[in-house]
Amino acid sequence: MGNQAFEAKDEAQLLDAIDRWLMREVKPVVLEYDHDDRYPERIVEQMKELGLFGATIGQEYGGLGLPATTYAQIIMRISAVWMAITGIVNSHLMLALAIEKFGTQAQKEQWLPKLASGEVRGGLALTEPDAGTDLQGIRMTARRDGDGYVLNGTKTWITNGVEGSCFAVLVKTDPQAEPRHRGMSLFIAPKHEGFTVGRKLEKLGYKSIDSAELVFDNYRVPLDHLIGEVEGQGFYQATGGLELGRINVAARGVGIAEGALALATEYAQMRKTFGKPICEHQAIQLKLGEMATRARAARLLVLDAARAFDRGERCDMEAGMAKFFASEAALENSIESMRIHGAYGYSKEYHIERLYRDAPLTCIGEGTNEMQRIIIAKQWIRRNPAA
Ligand SMILES: Cc1cc2nc3c(=O)[nH]c(=O)nc-3n(C[C@H](O)[C@H](O)[C@H](O)COP(=O)(O)OP(=O)(O)OC[C@H]3O[C@@H](n4cnc5c(N)ncnc54)[C@H](O)[C@@H]3O)c2cc1C
Repeated sequence: MGNQAFEAKDEAQLLDAIDRWLMREVKPVVLEYDHDDRYPERIVEQMKELGLFGATIGQEYGGLGLPATTYAQIIMRISAVWMAITGIVNSHLMLALAIEKFGTQAQKEQWLPKLASGEVRGGLALTEPDAGTDLQGIRMTARRDGDGYVLNGTKTWITNGVEGSCFAVLVKTDPQAEPRHRGMSLFIAPKHEGFTVGRKLEKLGYKSIDSAELVFDNYRVPLDHLIGEVEGQGFYQATGGLELGRINVAARGVGIAEGALALATEYAQMRKTFGKPICEHQAIQLKLGEMATRARAARLLVLDAARAFDRGERCDMEAGMAKFFASEAALENSIESMRIHGAYGYSKEYHIERLYRDAPLTCIGEGTNEMQRIIIAKQWIRRNPAA
């Protein structure tokens, strides 16, 4: 992934095009889509035209081949306006990454160009009703049968589950294997007979984008749908994209934290109490000072992790720190901004209540923040052994 030769001027042009698209096409319609919980088809078509479905896919497969630093800045910008639509692209790119990183040459040639153009859209299906954090506890199976595999089981909370047409699905090919991860495999699963969408899940926020239960009932795929065509690699393949996934979720957190700050900054200069704008009251200044510092620190942590990723370095600790800090910053800035807005922060006519509903997801997705702190600590100790 990522084209290291991507130049600063290309990046500036691309980010400028994203900004113009957000202001012209997205910002005016966010509230309407969010309140109706309606899939933004027109915006998805525009994201296709901008090349976003191929953002991190290599140029040889028709993608933009962006480095993580550029991609993270795109996600920050979009999330400051409407975080939910980044999920349509992020989850899709996790599917593409699994194929690009671990697939056979034939699998890359078959799937990546269609994923890059957005002709095929989808996501990554790991979570089950009984297993989220403890991924090795999944129950879904794939059984070898003649010239293919038969998959049975249920996935839940799958982003793009209704609107997407193809998913990377984590299963057990050897449910008795010890350690458990040795019995896990990852399959490319396009929608066809045996694969149904159980139900669309209702959520606090992250509206308009579909999160769904997927049911596999004697669903058959040929042998070449097993990623890498080797059994037992699924756990590594599924978690192999997590560093990038965490940088992406962290970038969403930065976007929300900065978006909430921008709304508060504007409102605090317009709203007057006791004869002066509320930004001149010290209590509001304390909030704005903290919010601005959190947003900036979150941005720097995300860029630091993205640069390490682009250099090809191990960056699980850096990505974990960015994800943990930026998502908590999103949560704190959204509630502080809401307080600054007074009663209007509680109104559905203002954007801040939406940011407040969207922010908590960033603390859950791509590994909960409880787990991030444990990952950070383990790597921190490993890098700092006692003398
Ligand atoms: C809107 C939305 C979209 C999603 N999209 C996708 C998707 O596209 N694909 C997909 O596969 N999944 C998706 N998920 C699922 C998400 O990845 C899981 O919810 C997440 O991994 C947590 O799993 P869980 O909900 O089963 O919580 P659990 O694993 O049951 O955890 C419950 C609580 O216990 C804590 N906990 C668990 N184990 C430990 C431990 N060892 N030490 C300390 N604390 C622990 C957790 O941090 C959490 O606070 C999505 C979820 C949401 C809400």
